[in-house]
Amino acid sequence: MKTATVTILGSGTSQGVPVIGCTCDTCKSNDSLDKRLRSSILIESAEATIVVDTGPDFRQQMLREEVKKLDAVLITHCHKDHIAGMDDVRSFNFLQKKPMPIYASPADQLAIKQEFAYAFGENKYPGVPALKLIDLNCNSFIIKDIKLIPIIVMHRYMPVYAFRIGNFAYITDANYIPEPGLNTLQGIELLVIDAVRKEKHISHFSLSEAVEMAQKIGVKRCWFTHISHLMGKTADVNPSLPSGMQLAWDGQKIEIGY
Ligand SMILES: [Zn+2]
Ligand SMILES: [Zn+2]
Ligand SMILES: [Zn+2]
Repeated sequence: MKTATVTILGSGTSQGVPVIGCTCDTCKSNDSLDKRLRSSILIESAEATIVVDTGPDFRQQMLREEVKKLDAVLITHCHKDHIAGMDDVRSFNFLQKKPMPIYASPADQLAIKQEFAYAFGENKYPGVPALKLIDLNCNSFIIKDIKLIPIIVMHRYMPVYAFRIGNFAYITDANYIPEPGLNTLQGIELLVIDAVRKEKHISHFSLSEAVEMAQKIGVKRCWFTHISHLMGKTADVNPSLPSGMQLAWDGQKIEIGY
């Protein structure tokens, strides 16, 4: 079995934590575990470096983790907190002298073309990002030495892509997992899944719903991501979770097998 490292680039919900102007205990916390950039992960194997989502904090995340090459970007869905930083793949275009492969569903590709219209079409301004859009669907695909299996999860009415790699899966922005996805998740041991807050939410799992889902899938270890300041302080929440489960944190590294 080969191993890869997953780094939590960000574990915060769309506003991040702290929230601008908020004076709640979580936003005022000095604990580094309570500082959450927008949700994204980095996957690094012997050959491949992949980012899932390029949110508004993408530049800062690449600098913090000292990422020097990037083979591909996978887009879970086109909400702003998952694509807003895509312009900064320019730096990798300059370094690698080729367009960045962006795996996205056809619907998300349309949104990306609207959002970054200046990067598409004729007579582009010099230096705009070079984005090579690649269709993402339910078929598994390979990037260098990594096989990725896409899984459709539901974010209220919106289909969102989750990904399985070997014994690991990453599920952000979901409040429901249809049957085919649950089948694909069978046998995983490590899971990162969204849990926005304790109270019920219309388009995200709550903490108790996410715990229940992790138990239903039957994983050994689970970390929760896409966390709002309403979740409360990490040090207060973690002791209340079942063994093997914790809130994810920015900079966290998870060794996966595939
Ligand atoms: Zn989101
Ligand atoms: Zn707050
Ligand atoms: Zn979303």
